[in-house]
Amino acid sequence: MTRAATAQINLSAIKHNYRLAKSLFPGSKAMAIVKANAYGHGAVEVAINLASEADAFGVACLEEAIRLRAAGITNRLLLLEGFFDTSELQKAAELNLDTTIHSKHQLQQFLDSELGHPINVWLKLDTGMHRLGFSSEEFLQAYRHLANSNKVSELVLMSHFSRADETASNTTLDQVAQFKKTTADLPNPISLANSPAILSWPESKGEWIRPGMMLYGSSPLDQDNDASRQLIPAMTLESEVIAVKTLKTGDSIGYGATYRCPGPTKVAVIAMGYGDGYPRQAKNGTPVLVNGIRCPLIGRVSMDMLTVDVSAIKDVSVGDSAVFWGQDLPLAEVAEFCDTISYELVTRLTGRAPLKYTQ
Ligand SMILES: *Cc1c(COP(=O)(O)O)cnc(C)c1O
Repeated sequence: MTRAATAQINLSAIKHNYRLAKSLFPGSKAMAIVKANAYGHGAVEVAINLASEADAFGVACLEEAIRLRAAGITNRLLLLEGFFDTSELQKAAELNLDTTIHSKHQLQQFLDSELGHPINVWLKLDTGMHRLGFSSEEFLQAYRHLANSNKVSELVLMSHFSRADETASNTTLDQVAQFKKTTADLPNPISLANSPAILSWPESKGEWIRPGMMLYGSSPLDQDNDASRQLIPAMTLESEVIAVKTLKTGDSIGYGATYRCPGPTKVAVIAMGYGDGYPRQAKNGTPVLVNGIRCPLIGRVSMDMLTVDVSAIKDVSVGDSAVFWGQDLPLAEVAEFCDTISYELVTRLTGRAPLKYTQ
């Protein structure tokens, strides 16, 4: 037996969550977002698991797309940021990828290129995110070029939300209104909704939706609702206790002595650290499940180990189970204790704790 730290991935949970996304926007096609190694869950395994039902996959860059094509994934596959130079555009055409076009620079390179066959283009409008995308005026010009180009197979119109996770903010509705105003006269399919919009903004419905984090079962919403409560977490990050000791009042724990025991304290040392991707900034009190019971993290997380106050548990011994997030401990809750979001916790796993799959 080697070190027990593992990330268990429940593939049927991902399927359930994909189907939930489709059921929330009936009739829409869904692009399963598998960028950043499927948010740390393993892009090839996740894509193979969804290949028979996913209408498309979305990735951030050509390297990610190449990996999926090499693994035999033949579904539609979109480069969410498009190509970064003309050689990438050629390669994208060869691999039969869809590309985003979000800037004049990309548009010009696309129009100047010689592609072997037409490809699907997702033209991006900036409706307030102010990261990628054309302004309304530039968008309509770009649209005219692409709508008349024989290099374009299907032309999808898209935008991206900046605050869809904030259930009390009006920004998403403003962005939808801005999108509808600009594209009102255009007959093309549209795509707006990311996970938080699928879960809470029915106004964002279009021919295509783009679920990412919700596939992995963590709600991005600032407040749970009926839809988000149906998500099933796909990852359980777990390990085992490797030592148990009882410390005296006033004893400190770990690097920097950031925690001092207010009384006699039973401590479990667990094989999990920032070398695995568990966040070093996790505060004293961050919940960890030891033998299924919530216990507080105490002391600084180190590279290979962390320490938990298990005084509340009667019997704890070496080899007992520890869970850092998963079914009974929401990733989003742990993220809050670490001043970050669930997206960062799963994408920063280092791979030392191996991914293990169950159907
Ligand atoms: C990452 C991404 C998504 C998915 O976002 P989630 O919040 O994870 O659902 C959708 N659309 C675009 C353009 C993205 O880059």
